[in-house]
Formats: sequence, structure tokens, C-alpha cells
Amino acid sequence: MKDEELLLSHVLGCSFMDLYTDYRSLIPLKSRRRYEGLLFKRKRGEPLQHLTGSSEFMGLDFKVSRHTFIPRPETEILVQAVLGVINGQKGGLYLLDIGTGCGNIALTLAKFIPGLVVLATDISGLALKTARLNAKAHNLLGRAYFLNTDIFEGLFPRKSFEIIVSNPPYIANSELRYLPPEVKCEPLAALDGKEEGLFFLNKIIKEAPEYLKKDGWLALEVGWGQAGEVTKRLSSSGKFSSQRVIKDYGGIERVVIAKRR
Ligand code: SAM
Ligand code: GLN
Repeated sequence: MKDEELLLSHVLGCSFMDLYTDYRSLIPLKSRRRYEGLLFKRKRGEPLQHLTGSSEFMGLDFKVSRHTFIPRPETEILVQAVLGVINGQKGGLYLLDIGTGCGNIALTLAKFIPGLVVLATDISGLALKTARLNAKAHNLLGRAYFLNTDIFEGLFPRKSFEIIVSNPPYIANSELRYLPPEVKCEPLAALDGKEEGLFFLNKIIKEAPEYLKKDGWLALEVGWGQAGEVTKRLSSSGKFSSQRVIKDYGGIERVVIAKRR
């Protein structure tokens, strides 16, 4: 018996079997209807996180909606990479998170690094609405700012950030139709990396030097087989040093981090 089943049968004062054979009489009609409705949607392929409206990331709870991307475990590696390079620096640090979605990357980093101020941007105003709710829930409204914009548009190229981080859409256009049904429930604008999937990564690499302070860091999540091209572009720009590629739990090169010269 799972812990959940044991505790539920304990609270309802019934046996384990009753949970399955007798649940109609144990659970109030209204809850049952809702539960059965959710089960139906789940079977149709809707992600669990859309049904509960929340998702776990780095041990923290984030609200999500149909308009936000669902945080993935591999993105925790991106966050860990940033934590690694910040390594004890405190206060007065500015971070830009491009395509923040529900705000998971920016807000987790703000939670873990006291004194970090984050600017979280997204092309989706509806995603930003959820990100703002998450900032409030995590008590970070004082250190988190939000901007509805297209990549760097609307920002001044003033070399003012210590860190720029992004998990942009990076799926190649030709691969979109092969995505599993669950992933197809997520916003297309969160996944579609256009062309070879490198449109946003290339644009960020090209423009980030104008927004990063000297010795600042650019940290990017990349898709399968993209790390080579991304590191090549970072090198050929001549603007970065100390590049590092980090693999995910599945052994795929997932994160590229580079230091502004
Ligand atoms: N940062 C979240 C995470 O890592 O879980 C969400 C990442 S999701 C893969 C990519 C995000 O980029 C989506 O929220 C999407 O709306 C946003 N996005 C797409 N095109 C954009 C653009 N042109 N400018 C800014 N954000 C964009
Ligand atoms: N990792 C996501 C997926 O599995 C894609 C994320 C992205 O495009 N940034 O679908």
C-alpha cells in the first residue's frame, strides 16, 4: 500500500479496498465529480501540472497555467550552474531571465541568492501574470521585476547585468509535430525554436554582450545536439571566455555557460 492510500484510508476510517470499491460513498459528490473530470482530462493527455495548477522546481512550488511552460527537471541544472558561478557573492547582483514562463528560474535564484535582483521577461503577458503571482507567493516582489517584451527589445544596452540566463524555445520547427501529446498541451511559443531550433539561442548570444557586465555570465539551456553549435558561436563572437558545457541526468549536453570578457 502506498503511503497516500494508507493515510487516506486512515482518515476516512475505511479499509484499503474500500478506497477503490466504495469510494463513491466515501467521497462527497461534488469532489467526486471534480475528481472524475480531472481523471478524464488526464487520460486525454493533459499534463498533471495543468490539472493541479502547480509544479515543483528545486523543491519550491510554482503556480502554472495553460499559458506557461511546465518547469522541467533538467532546468534545475541550469539553475545549479548559475549558483555555482555566483558562489558566495552577495548583494547588488542583477540578473536577467529571458522567457521566464512561470518565473521558476529567476525566482528560485532570487530565493537562493540573498540580494539578487531579477528582471524576468516574456513575450507572453499571460505567463508573466502567473510569474508575478509566484513572486508574491514566494515573498519576492521586492526583488523581482517583470517586463512583457521580445527578447532584448525594450531594454537599454547598458551592460548592467551580472547574469543573463535563458531556457528559450529551442525545438526545431520540423520536430514540433513529433512531440508527445502532453507536451503539445503546452504553449507553442514556449517550444518553437524556429528553423533548426537555434533562432533564440543565436539571437541571445549575439546581443547579450551589450547587456552583460565585464566578467558577467551567460547561462543557456540547449536542446539535444545543439551545444556544439552554441559553443562555436560563443567562441567566434570573441566576446566570451571560460565556456563550460554541462550534461543533464540523461547524459545530454544541456547547459552552456560562458563568461563575458
Ligand atoms: N523559463 C521557464 C523554464 O525554464 O521553465 C520557461 C521556458 S519556456 C521553454 C520558453 C519561454 O520563452 C516561454 O515562456 C515563452 O513564452 C518565452 N518566449 C517565447 N518567445 C519569446 C520572445 N520572443 N521573447 C521573450 N520570451 C519569449
Ligand atoms: N525540454 C523541453 C521539452 O522536452 C523543450 C524546452 C525548450 O524548448 N526550451 O519539450
